[in-house]
Amino acid sequence: MMKRFSLLLAAGAVFLIGMRAPFILENQGAKRIKIMTSIFPLMEFAQAVAGDRGEVDLLLPPGGEVHTWMPRPSDLIKLSSADLFIYIGADLEPWAEDILRSVKNPKLRIMDICEELSLLTHSSSLDREHGAVDPHVWLDFGNDQKIIEGIKTVLGEMEPRVMSIYKKNALIYNQKLQELDRRYTEALRECEQRTIVLGGHAAFGYLAKRYNLRHVSLYGLSPDSEPTPSQLIDIVGLVKERGIEAIYFEVSVSKELAEVIAEETGARTLVLNPGASLSRKQMESGVSFLDIMEKNLENLKDGLSCR
Ligand SMILES: [Zn+2]
Repeated sequence: MMKRFSLLLAAGAVFLIGMRAPFILENQGAKRIKIMTSIFPLMEFAQAVAGDRGEVDLLLPPGGEVHTWMPRPSDLIKLSSADLFIYIGADLEPWAEDILRSVKNPKLRIMDICEELSLLTHSSSLDREHGAVDPHVWLDFGNDQKIIEGIKTVLGEMEPRVMSIYKKNALIYNQKLQELDRRYTEALRECEQRTIVLGGHAAFGYLAKRYNLRHVSLYGLSPDSEPTPSQLIDIVGLVKERGIEAIYFEVSVSKELAEVIAEETGARTLVLNPGASLSRKQMESGVSFLDIMEKNLENLKDGLSCR
């Protein structure tokens, strides 16, 4: 698999030699910073800070699953003309290192978000990946404010003349994140249930920690391996023992096992969306990261019976 992937990248690189010249000429008039991002929240953050100074694009296609996605040669082309690439790191994008090695673009600045944040190691009651680093840092709205600050600093270094614009944009978006954080804190303070049972993968560790909740998931840090029957039995046991009323599932991971647990325990199913990518329909209707997090809060309040 790896070998075929490298060949594909090589083919993309060869293709680029013929593509670059006209592409550069075409963009000479435009002065906007070209920013590529790996996942949807980073695209929204970069857009928020750059405003109309930036032209922001997303690598992960609508409905794509970031842990298992594979870049195509056309993605290499996008990166080869970008000024800045922002990605999460900590192995969220297992494809990132390969693609960055293959891109021939000496002016490309690379921003690895996890380098600047303190990371959680995975622990759930199933704990099948003990000690593994959890890359889902954007599901902590305090981290998101640091990410916004980081993007502001980098853009300011790239274009010091307009730093005041970036500062103002960052401030406006961070106020929205603070407001969201405040509403989560308040809404999740008093709930009958404090355990989130997720029939998807372990994406909500940071969110659970921030609001003093527990987080148990059927899959590990990546949804690429099926849970075993004994893991399923363990979760069914936990749901019955604690009287848990809602099983959460992700739109991008099959709902089937969440439904099995719900049927077995008499619980309901509700969506919890990590927001790494949007469906095509959501993309077209202009759904924002903040909208997705609002919807998650509604479903958390509902499923955990919060006052
Ligand atoms: Zn994930």
